[in-house]
Amino acid sequence: DTIGANLDRTVAAWPDREALVDVESGRRWTYAEFAADVDELASALLASGIAKGDRVGIWAVNCPEWVLVQYATARVGAVMVNINPAYRTHEVEYVLRQAGITLLVASLRHRTSDYRAMVEQVRRNCPRLRETVYIGDPSWDALTGRGTAESRAQLRTRGSELSCDDPINIQYTSGTTGFPKGATLSHHNILNNGYFVGESLAYSEQDRVCVPVPFYHCFGMVMGNLAATSHGACIVVPAPSFDPAATLRAVQDEHCTSLYGVPTMFIAELNLPDFATYDLSSLRTGIMAGSPCPVEVMKRVVAEMHMAEVSICYGMTETSPVSLQTRRDDDLEHRTGTVGRVLPHLEVKVVDPVDGVTRPRGTAGELCTRGYSVMLGYWNEPEKTAEAVDPGRWMHTGDLAVMREDGYVEIVGRIKDMIIRGGENIYPREIEEFLYAHPKIADVQVVGVPHERYGEEVLACVIARDPADPPTLAELRAFCEDRLAHYKIPSRLRVLEAFPMTVSGKVRKIELRETYADRD
Ligand code: ATP
Ligand code: MG
Repeated sequence: DTIGANLDRTVAAWPDREALVDVESGRRWTYAEFAADVDELASALLASGIAKGDRVGIWAVNCPEWVLVQYATARVGAVMVNINPAYRTHEVEYVLRQAGITLLVASLRHRTSDYRAMVEQVRRNCPRLRETVYIGDPSWDALTGRGTAESRAQLRTRGSELSCDDPINIQYTSGTTGFPKGATLSHHNILNNGYFVGESLAYSEQDRVCVPVPFYHCFGMVMGNLAATSHGACIVVPAPSFDPAATLRAVQDEHCTSLYGVPTMFIAELNLPDFATYDLSSLRTGIMAGSPCPVEVMKRVVAEMHMAEVSICYGMTETSPVSLQTRRDDDLEHRTGTVGRVLPHLEVKVVDPVDGVTRPRGTAGELCTRGYSVMLGYWNEPEKTAEAVDPGRWMHTGDLAVMREDGYVEIVGRIKDMIIRGGENIYPREIEEFLYAHPKIADVQVVGVPHERYGEEVLACVIARDPADPPTLAELRAFCEDRLAHYKIPSRLRVLEAFPMTVSGKVRKIELRETYADRD
């Protein structure tokens, strides 16, 4: 199926159920209203000369227009390019040129920065960019009013000209380990993935999904929007960008049944001083993904946020994204110790990163994924694609994993984050889990920094629970003494107020490593 055909099915089944709610503006759409607005925008795109395969950029924080652009571009067969809302001139110019964007939709509504001034600065260098339309500005209304009788007729016949294997989306990776790469994805890739993720959460038209994670990232637009619309559920947008209080208020007021986040978002919600005053009793499920979840956080999410069925997902942009997921009835041990088992119709294996031979269960190696979810390739970067996807169509994830006897997979860490100290392999995640239990530590990241004699040594970057009383290196070392092997015990400590983050909410360890490489 194409995304448009799938939306038609949902609209036919539940025309009067809610599809989309924007809490900030109070605007709401039923499925019938949503589909009508999507079609109006799609015929406007056709009237503007957007052809199948043309790239349409969307540069905005979460807002309902983002979702309309997502479905309207899929309807006409254009390739939507997600542009990171945090980008500035240099980066946006790179994406506009690299993806050859002809129409850019940018938002002026949430003036965290002046997108219009930035576009003006780079426009001259982007010869393919024909037009820029601004959400929250008359140019948006002008665009949506552009549909004609002819373009509406054209839209009706368009469906049969599309194939589910056409590229419809370029999504950039988070840039956690370096420069973001543009994964090219088809209807088939992302619609199936959204559908199966929703299925394993048992989504139905009764569900209301609170999405505080960015639409810009696959977590929001696939695991959120496509999972919801393919099962008739409602998308609830709590705020333009993550705000813990606004998120919990939206769950309470909109009676959400499902809540998403990366672990740091759940931590921020649980740590709100007035956390106990929110009524979260409508929640039953949700997804925590993107980075490892500390055990203590999972326990509190299950017990104090009513999310008894919360699911852990593992995935990457290049695989649409999810390949492993815990199931509704998994116990706490599987939900914290593993990222679940493989989704239907996908394969995973764990191989020796050097020779590619499959490793026995219970031993660590590089995780590889194969199946419908693997991207078409990195946009215009065949060499990088060939490095990541092998001739057998296996995607090499760059993550170290262990497959247990029962098929559940543990993520050990990224190959790039592994610390090698004096010949010993150290996985930062293990030390982070351990230090997380220290009473003075609110959050912690462990990275390797260069050392003359050992090659690398272990640096702990911590955020103190009480900024006036941070832990000392001696205290940390005493805490680890006799409980961790000596070579894993951090030999350096930095107390920070915050970690450098990606927009998708992940800590950029690469930045910690570079910043503190040679300073004490
Ligand atoms: P880049 O590829 O640009 O460095 P990125 O890999 O963070 O950035 P994404 O595609 O957003 O970009 O994230 C995929 C990665 O996130 C995975 O390869 C894995 O390292 C990590 N990840 C995702 N889910 C989990 C999880 N449940 N537990 C641990 N790590 C996870
Ligand atoms: Mg990656």
